[in-house]
Amino acid sequence: MADMLELGAVEARSALDTREISAVELTSAYIAAAEDTVGLNNYVALTAEHALEMAAASDARIAKGEAGLLEGVPIGVKDLFCTAGYTSTACSKILAGFTPTYESTVTANLWREGGVMLGKLNCDEFAMGSANETSAYGPAINPWQTADGADLVPGGSSGGSAAAVAARSALLATGTDTGGSIRQPAAFCGVVGLKPTYGRCSRWGIVAFASSLDQAGPFSRNVADNALLMQAMAGFDPKDSTSADVPLQDLSAALTRGVGGMKIGIPAEYVLDGMDPEVVTIWQQGQDWLRAAGAELVDISLPHTKYALPAYYIIAPAEASSNLARYDGVRYGKRVEAESLDEMYALTRAEGFGEEVQRRIMIGTYVLSAGYYDAYYLKAQRVRRLIRNDFETAFENVDAILTPATPSAAFPVGRKVDDPVTNFLNDVFTVPANLAGLPGMAVPAGINGDSLPLGLQLLARPFDEATLYAAGQVLEDAAGFVANPPRRAGGVS
Ligand code: GLN
Repeated sequence: MADMLELGAVEARSALDTREISAVELTSAYIAAAEDTVGLNNYVALTAEHALEMAAASDARIAKGEAGLLEGVPIGVKDLFCTAGYTSTACSKILAGFTPTYESTVTANLWREGGVMLGKLNCDEFAMGSANETSAYGPAINPWQTADGADLVPGGSSGGSAAAVAARSALLATGTDTGGSIRQPAAFCGVVGLKPTYGRCSRWGIVAFASSLDQAGPFSRNVADNALLMQAMAGFDPKDSTSADVPLQDLSAALTRGVGGMKIGIPAEYVLDGMDPEVVTIWQQGQDWLRAAGAELVDISLPHTKYALPAYYIIAPAEASSNLARYDGVRYGKRVEAESLDEMYALTRAEGFGEEVQRRIMIGTYVLSAGYYDAYYLKAQRVRRLIRNDFETAFENVDAILTPATPSAAFPVGRKVDDPVTNFLNDVFTVPANLAGLPGMAVPAGINGDSLPLGLQLLARPFDEATLYAAGQVLEDAAGFVANPPRRAGGVS
């Protein structure tokens, strides 16, 4: 096989079943690729020995005709997922060395279907960020580059996941999305990323950031591979009280459904002042592709859109401040010894949490405090309801919504790091879906003038991921986008 790394997951599955390649060969190729691209800092732990054992077990099951959905497919895991026996740090110093004794439900689902764990992927600390620059392990680098060779961010928080899939150092990867952390890095790295409906994937065993917004989801290099991973990840879990007992649709059937007769909404409020003209062009292009494939484009209004970011940046820190109270130097990871208990808490948290995490804890504690709760937190929750109502009204008339995934392409490492508010603007198109609990998909749609990928976002009704896969496949076919970043394994490094 000339270049195994170029096979998609669906293709690799059939090459494995016909014994054209073995799981051990495929896994070895990915381990070598991860080692070749170590400069991209996409992995925070490569579990090569374990991966080869899992791959050998996959080969044995394939030989017996007992292959699971993901049998022999090498997968990278965001470091936010607990993996039994392997460090799970949320890329924070405060969880340095933390090795869970339990496996998250989502990753357990993958291994049950024969997936092979390659290792743990870099992300923003506790998933707080949009550039993977808040990681305690240092920034993850995007395999895409501008002509002048500057290092670009992969987006965040699931930056390592998106970058590894683009760089061919993971065939598939898991991510989590609280305000855009799957869709925004997918767009920056030219890969496909899905944030499922809230409740579709179990949150059990995933380090919590903002529990009412967090959702796990799949990364892949094409839409069909994404459906395969989603099919394996999702499912009801009694261990997560917010897990939804709603059967998953047949996603592979959705891939050939097309968009004939589908109504797709274009929200007026997503046209921003000063938006990158190339983003506007690609959005227009996406509308033309869908129309040509038989969809009806409908102008819609989501009037409360402008309040989504401010509401998110109250609700998410509020929940984070409460979730992160557990890192006290007693129960997990790091402890700074001190004379008194209070001092030990304070020193541990001061040293263990990075700047962005501390900022979120302070904002969250403030908006939840007795004097400000009604003015901020309660108000934000009401705004959240209005945003959800906007979508409910829109979905009375349309089946899906098309928007840009991000307001710009990937930017250089370090460019926005000192400006938290500019960083927050990265999430302007992605946050509303989290507030409303809707599924959303980012699909690569083209290349800008600097040869960097740009993505489009599709949104659908709750629990209607199938529509995203149907329309996503149409966009992918029309765009003919080939994910071929310059700094990938075997490429220029
Ligand atoms: N960028 C957003 C934030 O920093 C979203 C992060 C996420 O989805 N985990 O909160």
